[in-house]
Amino acid sequence: MYTAIGYAAQSATTPLAPMTFNRRSPRPDDVAIEILYCGVCHSDIHQARNEWGIAVYPLMPGHEIVGKVTEVGANVTRHKVGDLVGVGCMVDSCRHCEACAADLEQYCLEGPTLTYATPDRVDGTNTMGGYSSSIVVSEHFVVRIPEKLNLAAAAPILCAGITTYSPLKHYGVKAGDKVGVLGMGGLGHMGIKFAKAMGAEVTLFTRSASKAEEARRQGADHVIVSTDAEQMKAAAGHFDFLLDTIPVQHDLNPYLETLRFDGVHILVGLIEPVDPALHAANLVMKRRVLAGSLIGGIAETQEVLDFCAEHDISCDIEMLDIKNINEAYSRMIAGDVKYRFVIDMATLKA
Ligand code: NDP
Ligand code: ZN
Repeated sequence: MYTAIGYAAQSATTPLAPMTFNRRSPRPDDVAIEILYCGVCHSDIHQARNEWGIAVYPLMPGHEIVGKVTEVGANVTRHKVGDLVGVGCMVDSCRHCEACAADLEQYCLEGPTLTYATPDRVDGTNTMGGYSSSIVVSEHFVVRIPEKLNLAAAAPILCAGITTYSPLKHYGVKAGDKVGVLGMGGLGHMGIKFAKAMGAEVTLFTRSASKAEEARRQGADHVIVSTDAEQMKAAAGHFDFLLDTIPVQHDLNPYLETLRFDGVHILVGLIEPVDPALHAANLVMKRRVLAGSLIGGIAETQEVLDFCAEHDISCDIEMLDIKNINEAYSRMIAGDVKYRFVIDMATLKA
């Protein structure tokens, strides 16, 4: 067993604080990793505060993990000591169902084991995430970080990157398509970059007119201020795809109206009931599709890392001292980060 240290929430209402705990010794198929960087996802806040009602405590968030392999189990073939590797939102799945067989472990019919706050399939202990000094993960769920990528800026690709890349790819976004990205935070700014790299004409929908200039720097061709009813109305029937990263309940109807017939509105941010209610006519009358998407499989996570290396795409990050994690959560909720906090794990030792 390894002694590890990390930051965890003890309840939905307590701030994250340091905690010492044990990581298992590697099983034959495991890789032990010293964590160098970990991105801070809005899901970490939802979970730490039990906003989805599924949290278990102590809860140690973090699923955008980059680090160095320190030990491997006897049967490991894909990684070796010293390799730079990543771990995203999942650390295990059943590995034999239809979804797992199709490299879609995130849709495992028995439920994937998430990187934190999920019972381990072998010993039943709750998984602890990447706001920590080390992690031990089955090699199938460990990806390679391409040499060309900056390590800290690569961390958010493990969640924010794959979550936006996967649906754009699945729905076949291609050159010339008109893609709208809703919300420019960690996920949204990566969505803009990927849609642009796929050749689309990209529009950011944002609440903040002040983000317009930066959105253009990220690659957006146009910006619509979503609180301006005139601008929303002027966009009616325009888009082929909408990638919706808004993390709270919001009215989908005005956005659906901006889709052309056969347009697809992809939800990645919302897992609560839609409120206010969806007006079915907004789908029916134009054969529009309302879709959802969850992260991406392990093979596709490797693919998006390689895609980022090939297309020179990286995440815009602000390095974070782990002692300031609670303040970082407040700043994320206020939209005050450009566009992803990444914890420098060296600060954990300090
Ligand atoms: P961020 O907080 O970084 O960004 C969210 C953006 O949404 C903000 O920058 C803001 O953009 C907009 N926004 C925030 N609050 C509101 C509001 N009250 N009304 C309208 N717009 C708002 O979050 P992330 O990008 O990290 O995550 C986004 C969501 O995606 C979260 O709910 C997260 O849990 C979820 N998620 C889903 C995954 C999946 O697999 N489906 C995986 C990872 C995350 P602006 O200021 O431009 O309006
Ligand atoms: Zn995430």
